Amino acid sequence: MASPVPARLLYIGGEWVAPVKGGSLPVINPATEKEFARIPNATSEDVDAAVAAATAAFKSGHWSKTTGAYRAKYLRAIATKLREHKAVLAKTETMDCGKPIDEASWDMDDVATCFDYYAGQAEALDGRNANAAAIDVGMSEFDVRVRREALGVVGLITPWNYPLLMAAWKVAPALAAGCTAVLKPSELASLTCLELGAIAAEVGLPPGVLNVITGTGPDAGAPLSAHKGLAKVAFTGSAATGRLVAQAAAANIRPASMELGGKSALIVFEDADVEKAVEWAMFGAFWTNGQICSSTSRLLVHADVEAAFLAQLKKRAEAINVCDPLTEGCRLGPLVSEGQYRKVLSYVEAGKAEGARLVTGGCRPAGAPGGSSGYWVAPTVFAGVKPSMRIWREEIFGPVLSVATFTTEAEAVAAANDSEYGLAGAVISADPDRCKRVAEALECGIVWINCSQPCFCYAPWGGIKNSGHGRELGEWGLDNFLSVKQITKYVSPDIW
Ligand code: NAD
Repeated sequence: MASPVPARLLYIGGEWVAPVKGGSLPVINPATEKEFARIPNATSEDVDAAVAAATAAFKSGHWSKTTGAYRAKYLRAIATKLREHKAVLAKTETMDCGKPIDEASWDMDDVATCFDYYAGQAEALDGRNANAAAIDVGMSEFDVRVRREALGVVGLITPWNYPLLMAAWKVAPALAAGCTAVLKPSELASLTCLELGAIAAEVGLPPGVLNVITGTGPDAGAPLSAHKGLAKVAFTGSAATGRLVAQAAAANIRPASMELGGKSALIVFEDADVEKAVEWAMFGAFWTNGQICSSTSRLLVHADVEAAFLAQLKKRAEAINVCDPLTEGCRLGPLVSEGQYRKVLSYVEAGKAEGARLVTGGCRPAGAPGGSSGYWVAPTVFAGVKPSMRIWREEIFGPVLSVATFTTEAEAVAAANDSEYGLAGAVISADPDRCKRVAEALECGIVWINCSQPCFCYAPWGGIKNSGHGRELGEWGLDNFLSVKQITKYVSPDIW
C-alpha cells in the first residue's frame, strides 16, 4: 500500500529542502515488511542549516519576543489542522510503526489537545510575567522580581513508539515558551513529524520557528545533540542513547532533559478485585504492544491470589484481538521493526533459559494476518520470575510481562524499588491507606493507584534514576524551555 502522505524533504527555514548529501532511508510497514515510502537522511550539514534557520528566527524576535497570546493563536491553529487531518495522520502512524488504528486515532486526539493546552500555557505565561510578585529579600530598598524568557534554539530528539505525540510533548511547550526548534524524530517512524512541518507551513508559522529533519541517530541525532548553537536539548529515548546525548550537550555546557526507559512495577495485593487487576495489568503490559516507556512490565502479585490472577490473565491475553492494525477493533499490531522483533524474541529465549515459567505467548499469535510476514509477537507472560533474571531487570520494550510473588507489603515495595529505573509504579488494593503508603514509598516519578498508564497533558511526566530527569507536560513542560531572569531594582532615594 502506498504512503497516505506525500513524499517530503527536510523542513528547514519554512522550505522543503533536499538533504545536502542526498541520502534517504526506507520506511517499512511492520505489518507487511514492505517499503512504502522513503524519508531524507539528514547529516551534519543539514543539522547546521536547520540550527541556522532556527537561530535566525529566534534572533529576529518575530517569535521569541512576541506575547504568549500571539503564539497561542498559532498553537491553536496547529491543533485545528491536526484534528482536520486526523484520519490520514492516524493511518500514516499505523503504517509507520504498527500501532493499531484505534490507538493511533486516540494519539492524534492527544496530540491536538497538547497543542491546545500549551496555547493556554503561553497565554498564562504573559500573566506570570506581568504579575510576578516581588520577592521578599529582607531589604526594602530593593525590588526583586523574576521574568521568564524563552531559552533560545532547542534541539528535540524523539522516539518511535508515539511518533507524533512524543514530538508534540516537546514542540508545543517549546513554541509556547517562545523558543525556536529543530525536531529530529526517530528514523523508524518520522512520517507524521514531517506532516507536522507541513501543518506549520499551512498555518503560516513564521519560517525557522519549527524545523523538522529526519535521519538516523548517528547521522542526524548526534550532530544535533552536539551542536554549539543550541540552548538546550530535550531527549526522549533509551537510556543508552540518552547517555550519549547528555554527554554531547554537557560538552557545550548545555542542559539536556532526559525522558528515558523504564521497568515499572505493578503491585497487586490480596484484597484486589482480580478481574479489574487483570484488566489494568493487560493495559499496562500490552497496550501499544508493551512498547511504552512506563509499561508496568514487572508484576508483583500477592502469593494468595497468584493462581487466580494468572489463570484470568492467560485467558485475557490469549483472547486479544489480533488482525490488520488498520482494522478498527484491532488490539495487537506488529512490533515496530525487525530489530525490535528479534530483540523481544531474544528476551523470550533468555526468560526460558533462566528458568522462568512461560504461561502464554512467546511466539507469533494465532490470527496474525499476512501468513508469516509482519513482526508480531503474542502477549507473553512469564511466572516464577526471579529478581536476578534479565527479563525482570532489563527494559524489553515489547509485550512481555514478568510476574513474581510476594507476601508482605515491605517485601513488595523493596522488590519494586530494586531497579536501575524509576519512571513509574502502580498499586492495586482495596485498602486506601495501604495504597497511599505504597505510593509514597515507590521510588519513581509517576504512581498509579488502582490503575496503570493513564496520562494527562496537565500533569508532570518523567522519572528518576536511569529513567532520566526533568519533567514534561503541565507547567513543568513549559518551564523546561524557559530561562528565569532575576531583575533587581534599587528603589530607595538614598545612596551610600
Ligand atoms: P533510541 O534511544 O534508540 O532513539 C531515540 C532517538 O534518539 C531517535 O530519534 C534516534 O534516532 C536518536 N539517536 C540514536 N542515536 C543517537 C545519537 N548517538 N545521538 C543522538 N540521537 C540519537 O530510542 P527508541 O528505540 O527510539 O525509543 C525507545 C526508548 O524510548 C525506550 O527506552 C523507551 O522507554 C524510551 N521512551 C521514553 C519515554 C519517556 O517519556 N520517558 C517515552 C517514550 C519512549
